Amino acid sequence: MYLYAKVVINSDAVSIDKLFTYKIPEDIIQNIFVGSRVLVPFGMGNRAYEAFVLSLSYEPDTEFKNLKSIIKALDDKPLIDEKGILLFNYLVNNYLCRKIEAIRLIIPTGVMRGIKEKSKEVVILGKILDGKFKEKEAYISIINFISINEGLYTRSELITKFNLSSYMLGKLLKEGYLSVTKEKIERYNDRDYNFYDSFRLNEEQQKAYDEIINSDERLFLIKGVTGSGKTEIYMNLVKEMLYEDKTSLVLVPEISLTPQMIERFKGRFGKDVAVFHSKLSLGERYDEWFRVKEGKVKLVVGARSAIFLPFKNLGLIVIDEEHEGTYKSEQNPKYQTKEVADFISQINNCKVVYASATPSVESYYNALNGKYKLIQLNNRVNNKPMPKMKIIDMRQELKNNNRNMFSRELFEKLSHNLDKKEQSIIFLNRRGFSTFVSCRSCGYVYKCPHCDISMTYHNNGYLICHYCGTAKKIEKLCPKCGSKYIKHFGAGTEKVEGEIKKLFPNARVLRMDVDTTRNKDSHEKIYNSFKNGEADILIGTQMISKGLDFPNVTLVGVVAADTTLNLPDYRSGERTYQLITQVAGRAGRGDKLGEVIIQSYTPEHYSLTNALNENYENLYNEEISARKLLKYPPFGDILLVQCTSKNEALLKDFMRTVNKEVSSLINKNDVDILGPSPCIIGKIKENYRWQLVFKGNLDLNLCRNIKDRVYQLGSNVYNDIKISIDINPNSLI
Ligand code: ADP
Ligand code: ZN
Ligand code: ZN
Repeated sequence: MYLYAKVVINSDAVSIDKLFTYKIPEDIIQNIFVGSRVLVPFGMGNRAYEAFVLSLSYEPDTEFKNLKSIIKALDDKPLIDEKGILLFNYLVNNYLCRKIEAIRLIIPTGVMRGIKEKSKEVVILGKILDGKFKEKEAYISIINFISINEGLYTRSELITKFNLSSYMLGKLLKEGYLSVTKEKIERYNDRDYNFYDSFRLNEEQQKAYDEIINSDERLFLIKGVTGSGKTEIYMNLVKEMLYEDKTSLVLVPEISLTPQMIERFKGRFGKDVAVFHSKLSLGERYDEWFRVKEGKVKLVVGARSAIFLPFKNLGLIVIDEEHEGTYKSEQNPKYQTKEVADFISQINNCKVVYASATPSVESYYNALNGKYKLIQLNNRVNNKPMPKMKIIDMRQELKNNNRNMFSRELFEKLSHNLDKKEQSIIFLNRRGFSTFVSCRSCGYVYKCPHCDISMTYHNNGYLICHYCGTAKKIEKLCPKCGSKYIKHFGAGTEKVEGEIKKLFPNARVLRMDVDTTRNKDSHEKIYNSFKNGEADILIGTQMISKGLDFPNVTLVGVVAADTTLNLPDYRSGERTYQLITQVAGRAGRGDKLGEVIIQSYTPEHYSLTNALNENYENLYNEEISARKLLKYPPFGDILLVQCTSKNEALLKDFMRTVNKEVSSLINKNDVDILGPSPCIIGKIKENYRWQLVFKGNLDLNLCRNIKDRVYQLGSNVYNDIKISIDINPNSLI
C-alpha cells in the first residue's frame, strides 16, 4: 500500500512551485493514483487546495515530520496518465515553466473551473402495463410513443413537443411504467459536411506517401510548393492509420481560421473527427478531451494545444504550415509545438510529418543535416502553373507623382479583374504596429550597426535598437539620398478598405482581420461569402495568407512588402519570404492563370527577389549564413527576459541589477548579452516594458540558473515587477 503522495499544488505563487508530501488516509487509499486530482490542506490556515498527485511511495521520503493528510480525491479516475507524467516532466525541464502551468496543459481545460460532464434526464420504459392502466387508450398511446422514442427526450420536452398530458406522464412515472435515466450530452459540433471525395494520388504525391509509410525514420519534412496537394497526402496517411487502428493528429496554425481544413477532413472522414481549438467553449473542449481519452475519435484536427490531448495508440502527427509562428506558445509554458511533437513521437513511437511550402530555416537545417527525412514536391497538382509574380518599385511611383497606396499597375489589374468578374485578394502584412523608419525616395531603412535589425521610432524623436539599446537621433533628411520624404510606416486594413471603396465604388468588398472576426463564426461567414462569389475583393491580413483555395481568385496584391521586412526581428527576412509565397499561392488555383503584384520600397531585397523567383534555396543560404555569423538559431539559442512595471525607474534599476548579477553566471565567450533595453512596444496599458537578451551557446542548465537568479532578484519587488522568460521566442518584440 502506498502511504505517501507527492503533489503539485494549484497555485501560481512562485514559492509554492515545488512538490509537497502528504499522507494518504487509509479510507481513501483505493481512490488515490498517480495523476489523481485531490484536495489537500495547505498553509498556516490549512485552507483546502486542489492538487495533483505526481508520485506515490511507501516511505515519506522527506525530513519533514508533521505531514498533513490528503482530504479526498476529486474525480473517480486519475486525469493524468503515465505518458502525461512524462510530458509534464518534459515541459517543466525544457520550457522553464512552473509545475502547475505544465499540468494545466495536460488536463482537460476547464476541469479546474468546475466544468463537468453535462447530462439530462430522459424518459425510458419501465415495467409492462398491467391492471387498469392496460385498458386506458391514452396510457397505451403514450407508452407506444415512448417505446419508439425511448431515451430521446426529457419529461418537459415530451410534454411540449408531443402535446402529452403532464398528468398522465406523471402518473405512469409514479407507478413505474416509465422511468427516467441520466443521459450524457456531448458538447461538440456534429454538423453535417458535404462529402469530400478522395483523389488518386499523382506520382509525386504517391512517392512522398510511400517514403513516409515505408521508412523506419520518425521525423519527416515535406517541402512542397503551394497547391502541390500536401493535404491529400495527409489524408491518405490518416486513412492508413485508421486501417492500422491508430490515431492521427493533424495540427494547423489556427484551426478556427481555416474552415476549409475542417470542411475537408470532416467531409472525408465523417463526424468522428474531433476538432480542437481555442474558440471552442470550455464544455466542448472538456467533452472532446474525454472522447479522445476514451479512444472514441481516431482523428483530431486542431490548433497547437491539441498536441497535449491524451491520445490512445497515436500513429501520426502532421504539422501543417510548420513555419508558422503560432506553433510557439507565448504564454507559460512557452512551448514549441514542433519540439513537443518530437518528444511525443519518441514516447509513442509514432511518425511526425512537418510540412510547408516555405519551411522554417531551423527545420530545413534539420532536414539537410539528417534529423528530418526530406521529401520534396516540386509541382502543383495537374501541373497547374505557378502564378505570375511581379515586384513594383514604389520609389518609382513616388517619382511619377503617385502618392496613392496602390501602384498604377495594381490599380489597373484590379479594375481589369472587376470587369472580367474575377476575384482579387489584397493583402496587408501588418502585425499590429510597424514603426520602422524609411525613405520613400530611395528605400533607405535605419538599421542598428550592431544587430542588423531595423531601428524603431520612438515619440521622443529617437531611433532605438530594441535588441541592444543603441539610440540615435532621427535626422530630417535621408542620410543616403538627402530626400525629405522620411516616413514611419503603417497603414491598416481599414484604411485600405476605405481607399478601395473610393477607387472602385461598385466593387463588393470584404475585409478579414482581427476586428471583423471576433465572433466564433464570423471567419467562416466571410470565407463562405467570398467562396460563393458574393464579393469581388477580399482585403485581409496574415489570416488570408494560408489554406484558402478559391478557384476564381486570379489576382493577389501585396500592399507593402516592407512592413514585415523591416520588423525588428532576426526572422523578418524569412517571414517576408514565407508570407509572400503563401499569399501568392492563393492566386490561380482554378483553371485561370494567377497574377501577383508585390509593392515595395526595397524591391532589391533578397527576400523579395527570391520569393519572385521561387528560390527557397537561395533564401535559405542567405539566412543560414547570417544566423551562423550572429549566433542566432539554429547555431545558438536565445533567452529572452522581459519585465514589466508601472514604475519605470524601478524597472530600469531592476534590469540593470539583473544584468550585473546574471553576467557573473555567464561565460562571455559563449554568450552575448544584449541590453537591457526598452521593448519595441515600450509600454502596454501603463506598464513599461524592458528586456535583456542572452544569445549564443546556452544549455538548459544555464537557462535554468539564469531563470532562478532572475526570479530570486524579482522576489524583492514581487508586487511591482512582472517577469517573463522565454527560450527561442517567436520574436523579440
Ligand atoms: P497544398 O496543401 O499543397 O497547398 P492542396 O492539398 O490544397 O495543396 O491541393 C490543391 C488542390 O488540388 C486542392 O483543390 C485539392 O483538392 C486538389 N488535389 C489534391 N490532390 C489531387 C490529386 N491527386 N488529383 C487531383 N486534384 C488533387
Ligand atoms: Zn533616401
Ligand atoms: Zn542593436
